[in-house]
Amino acid sequence: MKIIMLGAPGAGKGTQAIMISEKYGIPHISTGDIFRANIKNGTELGKKAREYMDQGLLVPDELTCDLVVDRISRDDCSKGYILDGFPRTIPQAQALDRALERMETSIDYAIDVDVPDENIVNRMSGRRACPGCGATYHVMFRAPKTEGICDECGEKLIVRADDQPETVQKRLTVYHDQTQPLIDYYDKKGILKTVDGTKHVDEVFGDITAILGE
Ligand code: ADP
Ligand code: AMP
Repeated sequence: MKIIMLGAPGAGKGTQAIMISEKYGIPHISTGDIFRANIKNGTELGKKAREYMDQGLLVPDELTCDLVVDRISRDDCSKGYILDGFPRTIPQAQALDRALERMETSIDYAIDVDVPDENIVNRMSGRRACPGCGATYHVMFRAPKTEGICDECGEKLIVRADDQPETVQKRLTVYHDQTQPLIDYYDKKGILKTVDGTKHVDEVFGDITAILGE
């Protein structure tokens, strides 16, 4: 099963993608996580990506597309995967389509986690992330068992550099300009499924599993 998660930054794509990955046993591929790991490790890619990420801008397509195509070509992706945060532009979607065509396969579902802008600022300002394992929490909606500590691996949780209010606004504008057109792109392909992302995390997951099957 090959799945794309669509939705505004902070809509809950990552939260749901991790749950889908566990239930269906397919890898969760987050381009944001890949860039953040590169920043942490001080790689050339990380240095370049950071310039854009810290401003709330998208990392250029030429730094992003090949990385994803390489990743989905690995053996662990043979039964499927969940792409979280990719594609984010029409050229990225077209590059993915070309690669999938070469591999003689296609995406099964593009799931749009729909959350209005007014909820997004709250979601991102309360987000806490684990720099160790990538788990995501929210101070009000999805608090860890011990404040500030990851339930999964015990690392200290952080506020992402790009979750500051000014950057959040910029990311939302970028989303509407560059990423939202993908909803129509996948609708035209007949694989778009929309879920109401304002519901509780478990309810959203229930709606997604109803689409994907048990
Ligand atoms: P994205 O991957 O789309 O940027 P995340 O999955 O990181 O979004 O979620 C953003 C924030 O909102 C996190 O703090 C997360 O814990 C919280 N969150 C995710 N889903 C929900 C939900 N259904 N209701 C309330 N908060 C949520
Ligand atoms: P995310 O973790 O998905 O919220 O992504 C964090 C940031 O990483 C984004 O605001 C972008 O700067 C960058 N990024 C992640 N995925 C992509 C992508 N597919 N294309 C361009 N930039 C991306």
